[in-house]
Amino acid sequence: MKKTYTYISLGCKVNAYEISAIISRLKELGYIKDDSDPSVAIINTCSVTSTADQKSRQHIRKLKNKYPNAIIVVMGCYSQGHHEYIKEEIRPDIIVGTSNRDKVVELIENKLYGDNTDKNPRLYNKYEELGVTAYSENVRAYLKIQDGCDNFCSYCLIPYVRGKSRSREKEEIIKEASALVNSGYQEIVLTGIHVGGYGKDLNDIDFSTLVEQLLNINDLYRLRISSIEESEIDEKLIELINTKDNLANHFHIPLQSGSDTVLKRMNRKYTCDEFYMKISKIKKACPDVALTTDVIVGFPGESEEEFIETYNFIKKCGFNMLHVFPYSSRPGTVAARLKDQIDPRIKKERCLKLIELSNQVWSEYTSQFEGKEVEVLIEQYDKANKENVGHTSNYLEVRVQSNDDLTGKIVKTIYKK
Ligand code: SF4
Repeated sequence: MKKTYTYISLGCKVNAYEISAIISRLKELGYIKDDSDPSVAIINTCSVTSTADQKSRQHIRKLKNKYPNAIIVVMGCYSQGHHEYIKEEIRPDIIVGTSNRDKVVELIENKLYGDNTDKNPRLYNKYEELGVTAYSENVRAYLKIQDGCDNFCSYCLIPYVRGKSRSREKEEIIKEASALVNSGYQEIVLTGIHVGGYGKDLNDIDFSTLVEQLLNINDLYRLRISSIEESEIDEKLIELINTKDNLANHFHIPLQSGSDTVLKRMNRKYTCDEFYMKISKIKKACPDVALTTDVIVGFPGESEEEFIETYNFIKKCGFNMLHVFPYSSRPGTVAARLKDQIDPRIKKERCLKLIELSNQVWSEYTSQFEGKEVEVLIEQYDKANKENVGHTSNYLEVRVQSNDDLTGKIVKTIYKK
């Protein structure tokens, strides 16, 4: 059999990390990428919203039609939650959910076709080690430290399809991070389904201690935390962001709603007062930190008053950028059964208001750096425009004109919006 492959990875960076682990194992076995005539076509699916479900279905069907002779492998969150449907209606050759991904290559090699999803992800007890590799973009690598979640926010399917929170062994993480630095990556982004839950299932380590140990790796220019819950930012982490130059000066802290009544219906684990106290503490310790957040708009029953509370609370917190998502009903979740689902037109109007607010606060935040010297890690070079592009520690995008490709270089320059 020819050893050629193609793949699609939908959704988050955790998915990208996981598929890249499988691809690197295929490469070790002599497989080469061939999008025109692959013997294996893999799709890593996503189920975060109903649109993600739909996209996953479309892509599986598309791969099947485009490559009728290839072994079609379906994996990821959508296949975990809908494996019966996929098996009956789309019939790929191999179905894996959010476990057994370490066996995908073996399944391909043995052509053991069939449904290999575990039927109850809540029974997974151990982090599934996928081997030393990382998903990377030029100079930045994404390092997975954890899987699963125990929070059960009422709108979210993830705890059902990814299972319990499981932490990766510290030794494996440090080994992989060191290997990445030694092979030239300057920035490592810690990823996981619920990164701040790291260590809760281990005896001797917590998230901020892991971060502290990673920051001590020689020649690691920058460590970035992808997203972290407010309650998981402890004194030590605030101290680290304040004192360690190689920890990115950026916190992405999901708020989801700025109304206590909506937070309660969402089964989020904090009140607005608690959230505000934590934000104030962070800002006091690190005044120029970039603070970004996620907000869900149009959660079932969200009244105009609750939306206005959210709008005003976001302003009060002083976030610098928002990722705004219209609520998407996920069958099987508590929120999907709530009455009073919000009209899509109202959701859209509210989303637009928050996107406008986000543009405004980002512009205000970036203005304070105008004309000042910033340090940027160059990530890519646009040869046609002779322009190098990278980010600062607090995630300002910076463009540097040059006849030379400066990718991988750390450049000091004057910031211009
Ligand atoms: Fe889902 Fe909430 Fe867990 Fe995030 S914290 S993965 S939103 S259940």
